[in-house]
Amino acid sequence: MQFPAELGLQADADLRHYNTLGVPARARYLTVVNSTTLLTQALQFAHEANLAVLVLGQGSNTVLTRDFDGLVIHNQLRGVDVIQETDSYVELRVAAGENWHQFVSFAVTKHWYGVENLALIPGLVGAAPIQNIGAYGVEVKDVITAVEYVDRTTLAIQTLSNDACQFAYRDSVFKNALCDATVITAVQIRLNKRAALNLDYPALADQAGKQPSLESVFDAVCRIRTQKLPDPAAIPNAGSFFKNPVVTTEHHQRLKSQFPDLIGFATDDGYKLAAGWLIDQAGWKNKEISGVRVHRQQALVVINPSNRSGADVMALAAAIQQDIVRIYDVQLEVEPRIY
Ligand SMILES: Cc1cc2nc3c(=O)[nH]c(=O)nc-3n(C[C@H](O)[C@H](O)[C@H](O)COP(=O)(O)OP(=O)(O)OC[C@H]3O[C@@H](n4cnc5c(N)ncnc54)[C@H](O)[C@@H]3O)c2cc1C
Repeated sequence: MQFPAELGLQADADLRHYNTLGVPARARYLTVVNSTTLLTQALQFAHEANLAVLVLGQGSNTVLTRDFDGLVIHNQLRGVDVIQETDSYVELRVAAGENWHQFVSFAVTKHWYGVENLALIPGLVGAAPIQNIGAYGVEVKDVITAVEYVDRTTLAIQTLSNDACQFAYRDSVFKNALCDATVITAVQIRLNKRAALNLDYPALADQAGKQPSLESVFDAVCRIRTQKLPDPAAIPNAGSFFKNPVVTTEHHQRLKSQFPDLIGFATDDGYKLAAGWLIDQAGWKNKEISGVRVHRQQALVVINPSNRSGADVMALAAAIQQDIVRIYDVQLEVEPRIY
């Protein structure tokens, strides 16, 4: 098989710097693409060479449990374009390789409302719709109008409307019917030009000042997150390792009588429990197995300070899951994608 020179393929590539857990996995091939033409060529090459494909942004929601025997495509498609503008809103086409936080900062400088609560979430724009990133009462589905992607099999460029993306809590069609079937190339986002702040989250309302503004909310989100969450550049981690589980009303009542401090919020399907509280109360904070540890301040975050393997990371996660079933009869679901 002839390697197309323009793909700049790296063989036996080290992926340690392509995942924020710092797992030392390797890829048979790695290519960095900065145009849809190169992306299509890379997919074509993988197809002809019968190679599995893994798309990686910053790898901040990914656990690599083994070397990847295929082609890793690191996405660096860049550009932010205005596609429509009125007195009340602006609609943008943001390329998938843009850094999410830099895009949020840009929107705040332009005085556009809608993504400020999502400041400092690591990763690239192209991954944001995959798990419908969310924080402080806002989810990215609230601002996405459409998602553009290349179909991995037909190589056709497609656009999906917000509705068709089937967004839900940390979920979308890209994790289900279209799982591993697309490469997202751009996200279309509509932002408000008129003041529209979301201060539903009490800690944010407290910190955003007496007369909250777009800038003060953005600053407050950055402050709270910096205090609460370890910076992956300093301590390798993948953010929240487990989703908040939803239990039935009866199950919640049972747990509440046994654990009066239990944190739970009523939802349409029952009660959503705070996974961090369950793990903390089970005594897991700062506990370590094979060099992988639960963060000492934030029980939901698994840290990998010694760059241990993805299998070691998953061994700690499995031990936590078993304990949570034993104590609360609750099954925790891992949030990052496991490969
Ligand atoms: C410290 C920390 C805090 C975090 N806080 C939050 C938070 O508050 N809320 C939240 O929702 N998440 C949070 N996360 C998780 C993470 O930041 C998001 O899920 C982010 O969107 C992942 O982006 P990424 O580029 O790193 O994706 P990656 O980890 O590279 O990829 C994630 C998945 O998407 C796929 N993928 C990536 N790009 C594309 C593409 N262009 N096309 C098709 N598939 C693609 C990958 O194959 C993989 O399956 C946090 C993570 C960390 C480390």
